[in-house]
Amino acid sequence: MNFYIMTLFPEMVSNGLAESITGRAINNNLISVNTVNIRDFAGNKYGHVDDYTYGGGAGMLMQAEPVYKAYHSIIENNNLTEKKPRVIYMTPQGTPFNQAMAEGLSKEEDIILLCGHYEGIDERVLEMIVTDNVSIGDFVLTGGELPAMMIVDAVSRLVPGVLGGEDSAVYESFYDGLLEYPQYTRPEIFMGKEVPAVLLSGHHKNIEKWRYEQSLLRTKERRPDLYEKYLKNHNLKK
Ligand code: SAM
Repeated sequence: MNFYIMTLFPEMVSNGLAESITGRAINNNLISVNTVNIRDFAGNKYGHVDDYTYGGGAGMLMQAEPVYKAYHSIIENNNLTEKKPRVIYMTPQGTPFNQAMAEGLSKEEDIILLCGHYEGIDERVLEMIVTDNVSIGDFVLTGGELPAMMIVDAVSRLVPGVLGGEDSAVYESFYDGLLEYPQYTRPEIFMGKEVPAVLLSGHHKNIEKWRYEQSLLRTKERRPDLYEKYLKNHNLKK
């Protein structure tokens, strides 16, 4: 799976994703992360890609042309003219990102992520190239690089082979609409606190039941919104 990231800070993105599991996935050719520096498409020798907003107001805006040219360089240099990939603009005005979206995106072969900066990007080029507007939460960051890295991370770990065991992504928070149960590793007793006995019993049915109940309880306590949805979707009563 190929990610193309349009950004003013390519090293921030490529250095961040070169570590840990995404780094291993890149080295094993399971994913590729290709950064495209929008500044390389500035139409002036100073590399300026921003300007004042029409109508006044604080802050600068990224201009349409460098973004448009950067986009076309990705399409043309990677033979993507036939089947144009989805172009995701990272924006606080987008649909909130979630696990279901990550699953949907993990089925794509190529994805372009567009990172804004300053006050954002000229609306005209967004209208021309963007297919999805995605937010990572109701807060405003200085740029789209961290959001784009989050999406690459969440999507990559769903690509077969990226996680060590294929099961790792299956029994996790949000997999079935519930948060994951609490987990423990050695030692059996830590500062007087014991691992729940059922987990040491070797009785798989009881362990499964305990985990399910803990998932329900945790979701009810921490994410009542998800809990209500889960009950409704599974025709369960409170
Ligand atoms: N003026 C914009 C607004 O009010 O919607 C915010 C611009 S923000 C300072 C600069 C860039 O950071 C955005 O273009 C976007 O790419 C990114 N960004 C900021 N917050 C984000 C969020 N919650 N989710 C995704 N991207 C975000």
